[in-house]
Amino acid sequence: MAEVENVIIVGSGPAGYTAALYTARANLEPLVIEGFMWGGLLQQTTEVENYPGFPGGIMGPEMMQHFRDQAERFGARLITDQATAVHLGTEPGAEHRVFVGDREYRARSVILAMGAEHKKLCVGGEEELAGRGVSYCATCDAAFFKGSRTLVVGGGDSAMEEAIFLSKFASAVTVVHRRAEFRASSIMLERARSRPNIELLTPYVVEEFVRGDDGALARARLRQVETGETREIEVQGAFVAVGHEPQSALVEGQVDTDPEGYVLTEGKSTRTNRPGVFAAGDLVDFTYRQAVTAAGTGCQAALDAEWYLRDTPEVPTPEGLPEGDLAEAQWAPPAGAGQLVAPDAASQPSRS
Ligand SMILES: Cc1cc2nc3c(=O)[nH]c(=O)nc-3n(C[C@H](O)[C@H](O)[C@H](O)COP(=O)(O)OP(=O)(O)OC[C@H]3O[C@@H](n4cnc5c(N)ncnc54)[C@H](O)[C@@H]3O)c2cc1C
Repeated sequence: MAEVENVIIVGSGPAGYTAALYTARANLEPLVIEGFMWGGLLQQTTEVENYPGFPGGIMGPEMMQHFRDQAERFGARLITDQATAVHLGTEPGAEHRVFVGDREYRARSVILAMGAEHKKLCVGGEEELAGRGVSYCATCDAAFFKGSRTLVVGGGDSAMEEAIFLSKFASAVTVVHRRAEFRASSIMLERARSRPNIELLTPYVVEEFVRGDDGALARARLRQVETGETREIEVQGAFVAVGHEPQSALVEGQVDTDPEGYVLTEGKSTRTNRPGVFAAGDLVDFTYRQAVTAAGTGCQAALDAEWYLRDTPEVPTPEGLPEGDLAEAQWAPPAGAGQLVAPDAASQPSRS
């Protein structure tokens, strides 16, 4: 084990493993603290149909095994345990310390990729039927519910977004919300209301998801909040859209976050407010939340970490790191403002 790691990656979803792959290929020998639940959210799903490169689709756990294998192939080292604490340096070149229980790891750079958990309703049948009708992502799973009766739980913009997207596939979408008023913006509400196959049902809560004889979701039991009356509706798909919880508690008080806990990064980069600390994936992104976007920012974080290690005078440049221009040059506007300039091949780092 190196005394001071070049880079420690915390988290092992598409963002963490992609960062591991890129930093491993840049000879940085990354150490990945992948958590008990390695592989991230896609371990909870069945078929992934929208990750480019798999025309026939691929099962989520199988895909994450591929991500993991590919990172390991180039030398990423994995610890299948939780990071329990971090002490992040505040000055350029300062060491960062990451703890796994009592064990301390030191690093010159850290990539945070702990993801965001979907908030759950915590009602009967929810866990058991997850992936068998109960979902947390319409963009991911709506296509499995063509011509089906579905419901969406939630009252914010995300719930409306989910309902509108779902209404393009499902025969019927019932939006169930616990209050009479919606938190969603009026424009989103109007869009939802204007779809003929979306019905808004308030003030109701889901009490239970009920499975059918085939083991998949068949019905949802709902309760009217004011009267207590219950009723069951037939549904094949239920989408829970009551928010997300970014897993940023580990870095609370050290790395800047927004009020919801999403880690803030600088401009288009993955740089946090701490020098040498980068963040990627759903931990940062409350908008797109897709495997391919998480992998994309994992790649960005790896390159940002590489450039930090190479170009920060206070940090000894790791051996074998590809050479290139100062990192700032990558982000600077092209010379001759407003004009397209042909890239100068000699000044472009080689990153094939
Ligand atoms: C049911 C479901 C189906 C989905 N289907 C699709 C789909 O079909 N297509 C698609 O593009 N997207 C899909 N998504 C969304 C996609 O899974 C996420 O956008 C993506 O996984 C985010 O990647 P990430 O690397 O940022 O985080 P995650 O995948 O959430 O991974 C974060 C990892 O960090 C680990 N971690 C957290 N805290 C610590 C700690 N303290 N120490 C160590 N490790 C830690 C976690 O255990 C986890 O392994 C789906 C999501 C769900 C829930």
